[in-house]
Amino acid sequence: MRFDARLGLAIAAGKLSAASIRWLGRGGGTALPGVLSNGLDPDVLDKLAARVPGGCIVVAGTNGKTTTSRILAETLERAGFGVIHNRSGSNLVRGITAAFTEQVSLGGQPAGEIAVIETDEAAFPEVVRRTKPRLIMLLNLFRDQLDRYGELDTIARNWRETLDGLDPSQTLLINADDPTLAAISEDSPAQRLTFGFRECQYTLDHLPHAADAAVCRRCGASLIYDELYLSHLGAYHCDQCGYQRPDLTFGARDITLDGLDSGSLVLETDQESLAIQGRLPGLYNLYNVTAAAAAGLVLGMPGEVVQAAIGDFQAAFGRIERVQVNGRTLVLVLIKNPTGFNEVLRTLAMSEMTDPVLILINDLDADGRDVSWLWDVDAEHLAAVEAPLYTGGIRSGDMAVRLKYGGIPPERIIPLGDVAEALDPFIETIPEGGTAFVLPTYTAMLRLRELLHRRGSVQMFWEQ
Ligand SMILES: [Zn+2]
Repeated sequence: MRFDARLGLAIAAGKLSAASIRWLGRGGGTALPGVLSNGLDPDVLDKLAARVPGGCIVVAGTNGKTTTSRILAETLERAGFGVIHNRSGSNLVRGITAAFTEQVSLGGQPAGEIAVIETDEAAFPEVVRRTKPRLIMLLNLFRDQLDRYGELDTIARNWRETLDGLDPSQTLLINADDPTLAAISEDSPAQRLTFGFRECQYTLDHLPHAADAAVCRRCGASLIYDELYLSHLGAYHCDQCGYQRPDLTFGARDITLDGLDSGSLVLETDQESLAIQGRLPGLYNLYNVTAAAAAGLVLGMPGEVVQAAIGDFQAAFGRIERVQVNGRTLVLVLIKNPTGFNEVLRTLAMSEMTDPVLILINDLDADGRDVSWLWDVDAEHLAAVEAPLYTGGIRSGDMAVRLKYGGIPPERIIPLGDVAEALDPFIETIPEGGTAFVLPTYTAMLRLRELLHRRGSVQMFWEQ
């Protein structure tokens, strides 16, 4: 390999700053090394990605990209591949650059044979342009907090432009149950493969609050759902022009949810069917499992390896996590946006649990400043649940109001203060040996983990 002084310097700067951050104990800070190395060599990411012998896989979507990319990385590792991966969930260009400089030698030799890159929606076009992935996985496009990215349509337009610029040597694996993804990938020169639910007993009767009305991208008429599974994901067709959900290369059937603990499905292709059992709750996770399993098979991984990797998978930071505190179990589930929130509430309602629930809503930059998204959450799901509902965080009051308008009797809603003020009173309501659920937004989760860490209850996520 030819010596590249500029690249060498960029790698060294990335490694050195990452090491200093760790030494200073500023865990979780993954942006600075990427910013520094990119400043020294603006092509650092392009160059390092091109050196990965097995190529790059890019995973994008509003929800589930961390879980999906981690399952896929574990599948590949189990099959004996060294995997370069932005594990910390730092999924902007600078975070991805930092992950690469960390996982190559000083001379620029990659520490793995293949790279699995999770990317933010807005960073997707640049990440694809610079890493020239062999496989691109598109999971879903949901409306995020209103003030984070602007219009969903802008993202869809930018993604379409990126997909139109791919070449036939590249493969696209898309969730065909998402009509937007099906439409924007239609004209891509890349080889397009699809996954989705072929048959599922859990359906919704109407589009939830948080879902955008689904419109046929060919003729503009409203799409008709033959089956609606989650948000705007389902089997659909257009009465006016005959457009319909594309055929599924990978179709999931026999989908079964087992409370909050696990789920199973059978993944079918033309050639084989693979029974998969995972310890991940909720329908949304079964979409992630379907996507990761399909990608594993696309990459030629044996079915047994895919099954084993999913069977042993532990949920990623904050997705769902059990923490012991004072002899009680807290189940922590990160709330990122209305769709994710809805699915968590739906899963809780389906499991008919009666354990107390604490919803922690902050409105700092990383949470989304505008809390009007709470009105896109179907709090009505909780009306059927008999659990007491506590609210906390900076916007505790707004959440309490949303629950009240969701038809929950006021005596079941107990507003508490910010995260630090809410934690102890909430824990005291849980019987010894009992379980409770905590649903925090992003910064509320960070604060909660910090408080629990001080009590020795939980490892900080960068130590894992
Ligand atoms: Zn149409």
